[in-house]
Amino acid sequence: MSPSVTMSTAQQLFQGINIGNGEEGLITYMRTDSTALSQDSLYEIRNFVKKSYGDNYHSERKFKTISANAQEAHEAIRPTSIRRTPESIKKYLIKTDKNGSTNDRQFRLYDLIWKRTVASQMTESQNKKTTIITTSYDEKYKFKSDYDELVFDGFKKLFPEKKVDGMPDVVQNEEISFDFFNKEQKFTQHPPRYSEASLIRTMEELGVGRPSTYASILNTVKEKKYIWVINRSIYLSPIGNALVEELNKHFAKSVMDYKFTEKMENDLDLISNGDLKRSEFVKTFWSNFEPIKNNYEKMAEENPRNPSDYNFIRTNIICSSRTPCINSETGKDFEENDPPLGKKSLNPSLEKLPRMVWIRFRNNRGDGGFLACEDRECKVTADESAWAGFGRRRNRSIEALKNSMKEKSIH
Ligand SMILES: [Zn+2]
Repeated sequence: MSPSVTMSTAQQLFQGINIGNGEEGLITYMRTDSTALSQDSLYEIRNFVKKSYGDNYHSERKFKTISANAQEAHEAIRPTSIRRTPESIKKYLIKTDKNGSTNDRQFRLYDLIWKRTVASQMTESQNKKTTIITTSYDEKYKFKSDYDELVFDGFKKLFPEKKVDGMPDVVQNEEISFDFFNKEQKFTQHPPRYSEASLIRTMEELGVGRPSTYASILNTVKEKKYIWVINRSIYLSPIGNALVEELNKHFAKSVMDYKFTEKMENDLDLISNGDLKRSEFVKTFWSNFEPIKNNYEKMAEENPRNPSDYNFIRTNIICSSRTPCINSETGKDFEENDPPLGKKSLNPSLEKLPRMVWIRFRNNRGDGGFLACEDRECKVTADESAWAGFGRRRNRSIEALKNSMKEKSIH
């Protein structure tokens, strides 16, 4: 689920769902990053855990909030009643529309909130760790293997794991024979791209923004085309890249500092407590900000960036009526998983073929983009989501682009 879908689903659970006796709110207020649970709910959870799993599964715990600017006045997001288990209200949370397709978002989210809340008041699981060291006859080689065995599941009762291979049946000082040798070389992998969810987690750790603003922050950077989200992975667009470069040059110590929001929130707290004068705060902020702003306006006039570097991007989709939508990089069909900005083509002849260009525009309704063939004589155009979109919409747009090429492409 994307952050905004999760938020609106949470809103539905908060506002109320008919579970047999009229509408009832199933979770507490969701725009919070508080981890505090009320005494009443701690008591309810304790009773529930002891009754359902046994006394040894309960452990009352309180958590510290990760982010510095948490709104402590709120309670953590939790089910309004722990006794409403996900299974007991499942049928009310899975909706089927008139086309027969089911939507289980409410159920999945409620299930997650319920399990996390209950698990937070359960005991840790316990593992037994065994290490087996095998030595070759000449003592030249030693092989070490570790085994973890779950001896008590604790909170993992709610999140059952797949069974892993158990420990081999060996006793101390036993001689074992050698069956086969498996040689494998491992390479370090680059860290995965951010997804919307992992980016929000990082923002939370850094104290940037707060739960009520995460979804709108992501929507803004997407709408302004600073990032593309393709198959859940985030790609920085050239305009986003230029923006970060420029801002870092001049605002590295102010708004581009990860600590900026945290400091701002602290100052706002000081103001609301009466320990800092609002006018003083605004004056200091502005006196630091104004010189940079003036300088920046001057620089933009003297050394403007070329808009076509950011607003016209040659894509990796080749325009052709006979073989529509070939990826210039791979020489194969352009597919849903293909990233927006590719490397050079495998086959140099593919470099010369006309390609679709992504064109960014701004109008009074905001930022937009579309695809058009780079050959002005050719009339092929398409929705930008064919190149930088995701999911079913992207698939449909790629299909439409293929058809448009078959009909209109002059190459
Ligand atoms: Zn064309």
